[in-house]
Amino acid sequence: MDYSKFFRAALNRLHDERRYRVFADLERIAGRFPHAVWHSPKGPRNVVIWCSNDYLGMGQHPKVVGAMVETATRVGTGAGGTRNIAGTHHPLVQLEQELADLHGKQASLLFTSGYVSNQTGISTIAKLIPDCLILSDALNHNSMIEGVRQAGCERQIFRHNDMAHLEELLIAAGPDRPKLIACESLYSMDGDVAPLAKICDLAEKYGAMTYVDEVHAVGMYGPRGGGIAERDGVMHRIDVLEGTLAKAFGCLGGYIAGSAEIIDSVRSYAPGFIFTTALPPAICSAATAAIRHLKASNWERERHQDRAARVKAILNAAGLPVMSNETHIVPLFVGDPEKCKQASDMLLEEHGIYIQPINYPTVAKGTERLRITPSPYHDDGLVDRLAEALLQVWDRLGLPLKQQSLAAE
Ligand SMILES: *Cc1c(COP(=O)(O)O)cnc(C)c1O
Repeated sequence: MDYSKFFRAALNRLHDERRYRVFADLERIAGRFPHAVWHSPKGPRNVVIWCSNDYLGMGQHPKVVGAMVETATRVGTGAGGTRNIAGTHHPLVQLEQELADLHGKQASLLFTSGYVSNQTGISTIAKLIPDCLILSDALNHNSMIEGVRQAGCERQIFRHNDMAHLEELLIAAGPDRPKLIACESLYSMDGDVAPLAKICDLAEKYGAMTYVDEVHAVGMYGPRGGGIAERDGVMHRIDVLEGTLAKAFGCLGGYIAGSAEIIDSVRSYAPGFIFTTALPPAICSAATAAIRHLKASNWERERHQDRAARVKAILNAAGLPVMSNETHIVPLFVGDPEKCKQASDMLLEEHGIYIQPINYPTVAKGTERLRITPSPYHDDGLVDRLAEALLQVWDRLGLPLKQQSLAAE
């Protein structure tokens, strides 16, 4: 049997659909964010990163790097075991306390990634509720979809952020059926925000539990970086908040926060928590340092919003098709997978600007885009150079600019 032909065919399908992924080999330089070295096929080159999820540059913050180095030097590298067998170390326990405090919850639970926290968190919670019906937003992240799927219970999808549709489904389910609403607070590809207060109203009215993914908001929104729920004053009304340590906090790991009973139950039943080695102490200490810093410092959050607004203003003024939203994400519409990839390649090779193309299945076909994520460290000069490079690329590829009347809006 020629097994290799199956894999060749699988890869060819991706090439044919123009969605075969090519990774950029990058080397970040601590203290110089967003500048980095790209190890191109022709050798190393300096580039500016415009699509990192290290949104606030905390992955290179001296306090965070310092905490990681100090802890590794003091206690070593690995955790040495699963949480149950020798792997529960002090920096991890402190981090869980820090996260519970961040979200105003009784407890929190760490996982090796945000992906795992959703996958095993949602499925375990739903499995512990007899006859649970999951109501899931249509644009939920793959990690949530997998969690819902693994729960094995009935699920219904409500149209993205459509509260009338969600209410319809809640009414149809009836008051006695246990219901779990699962959604994100900030959707990272469009940069739009869920109406969390309204979702809490509906959950309370119809007796549903709420699970909210704040991965793209923790650290960046709310007076202490608690996310959109903190900003909107509804943190205490949401049953389970989920977040990552890998984006605005610049490290690695995921978590859920909630009541002591929910957290203790997931701790006791979730396979994706139980049967895997705990996060290393150095990562936990670094994450704690990032969270503590962002609880007290507003500089990063304010500058982050200022930079995002600046990028949107400059690109809009140039007539580039910015997809509008009120957050820090700047999606630039392309609408074609091949051109999206070409635009990205030209930016990198000719302008030293790195923006990964976002194609299907991450976004719907026909909505391919460049997703730009300004950080506090992208200064005016870099923004101007980005706009000039994009205009040249748009011209070369024959991509449309907005009408002058629209551009002036
Ligand atoms: C990135 C992401 C995750 C996964 O978080 P990781 O820590 O990177 O595994 C979960 N949810 C959403 C919405 C994400 O974008």
